[in-house]
Formats: sequence, structure tokens, C-alpha cells
Amino acid sequence: MRERWTIMVHGGARTIPPAAEAAHRAGCLAAVEAGAAVLEAGGSAIAAVVAAIREMEDDPTFNAGRGAVRNRDGDVELDAAIMDGRTLDVGAVAGLRGYANPIDVAAALLRDNAVLLVGAGADAFAAEIGAVRSGPPLAAPAGAVGCDTVGCVAYDQHGGLASGLSTGGLEGVRPGRVGDTPIAGAGFYAEAAVGAAAFSGDGEAIARLALAGRLMHRLPQLGAARAAALAIGQMGRVGGEAGCIVLDASGTPSFAHNSDHFAVGSARQGEGPRAFLHQNEFHQ
Ligand code: ASP
Repeated sequence: MRERWTIMVHGGARTIPPAAEAAHRAGCLAAVEAGAAVLEAGGSAIAAVVAAIREMEDDPTFNAGRGAVRNRDGDVELDAAIMDGRTLDVGAVAGLRGYANPIDVAAALLRDNAVLLVGAGADAFAAEIGAVRSGPPLAAPAGAVGCDTVGCVAYDQHGGLASGLSTGGLEGVRPGRVGDTPIAGAGFYAEAAVGAAAFSGDGEAIARLALAGRLMHRLPQLGAARAAALAIGQMGRVGGEAGCIVLDASGTPSFAHNSDHFAVGSARQGEGPRAFLHQNEFHQ
């Protein structure tokens, strides 16, 4: 039997100034449409996540790929990850430099035994697979607001689940700093018969809590909406902002955040794409 596909993307948990709202909604919708086209054609959740995240990496609205923020030294270091819920394969890179679509590099690593490559090793792997190099960084100007990490969760017609993330990290941080984004069980997770989750926010806090792992643990009992809310509620223990998008085992979507805004897009088979900047818009 064919399953009813679902896709959900996020464009980061943070305050979005009014002038940037339209760009966030449009960017989320474009990403959802790219992923939905893959799923509608019978493609895999992994392929849909890659298509959606590529779209957002190419959009300078978001802190990933083209729009990535700079570290303390003015350099751009990119982290990305993807997970296949059927096989539990993980591909992740951290501190990647000079590549346009880090999600492509992470996806290529799914076929390798390594789950995470960092720095020079990640760069060498990207070169080996012929990943597309970026031009000079188009990083957001210092102090820019409204840019944030991107993520995607997808459920395909064959029951496959996947989760992915891509980020430039946090602005002005120490070179080499890595947050939750490329760490399985912290920023993301996917497992068939359980669900999929992708986070954004203060990476150190999310990593300390191993927040994606916690969420997955409660997801079967609580369902997507309550498990998402419970995970975000845990942030009170360590402080900081976060948001997460979640699918349960049959693709029911939900999201939660404690930041002022969380740019999200979603679509299901038979339901056109929609974009939200706050969870109140989704639950109406
Ligand atoms: N979680 C990401 C990090 O800490 C940043 C973000 O989501 O905006 O690197």
C-alpha cells in the first residue's frame, strides 16, 4: 500500500524582523515544493530532504550554504547532516569550507561507514565526490538578523523517513566550534516506526540535552505535537532558544519552539504547501 507522503522544513528558530518575514515564508514554500515534487513522483524521503535543503542552501535568506554567517575570524564553516530512518545510516560534515551545498556532501557520506567528517577531512571528501564549490562567501553582513539554520523531515510513499540539517553555525564563534547540527541524537534523528526530528537554536544547549534523542524516546507514546512541546520545554533546564519539526511514524507533522518565531513550511499528499512563522498559525 502506498503511504501518504509528508514533508516539513524549517528556516531556523529565532526572531524574524517584519522586513524579513516574506522572504522566510517564500523560502520555506520553495523548499517544501522542491521536496514535495520528489515525494509525489514516488521518490525517497532522503532524496526529498536533499532537494528541500539544497533549495534553502541556495537562498541567502537562510544561514546555510550561500547565506552562512561568519565565525570570529570572518571565515565560513559549514555543518550538515542527513539520516535515513530505514537503515539508521547517518552522513554528516562539520567545519566544511568552500562548498555550495553541504547537504550533498553529507548525503554522499550515507554510503560510507563514517558518520561524521570534520575540517580538512570533510573538505577532502567533498573534493573526492566532486561536490560543487561555492564562489566567494556571500555570508550575511555582521549583525544581520533573521538568518538561521535550515532543516527538513520527510515521509515517503514507501514508508521511508529521513531528517536533515544544514547551517553556518552561530555568528562570531570560535573557529572550529560545532553545535548540535551534525550530531545524531542532538540536532536530528530519524527511525522508521518511530519518526523523524530536526532542531534549530542554541546548539550547545541542544547538544547538552541530546534533545533529538529525548524527543524520539517519547514520540511513540506522546505523538508528534506533545513530544515536540515536551522537548522544547526541556530547554528551560539549560537555557536558550530552540525549535523542532517532527513527524511521527506515519508522517503526521508538528512543530514547537520557544523562540519568538520559527519559520516552517509543510505539505502532505493532497494538502498544498503552507508556511508558518509561529506555531500558533499551525495549530489554528
Ligand atoms: N543549532 C545551530 C548551531 O548551534 C544554529 C541554529 O540552529 O541556528 O550551530
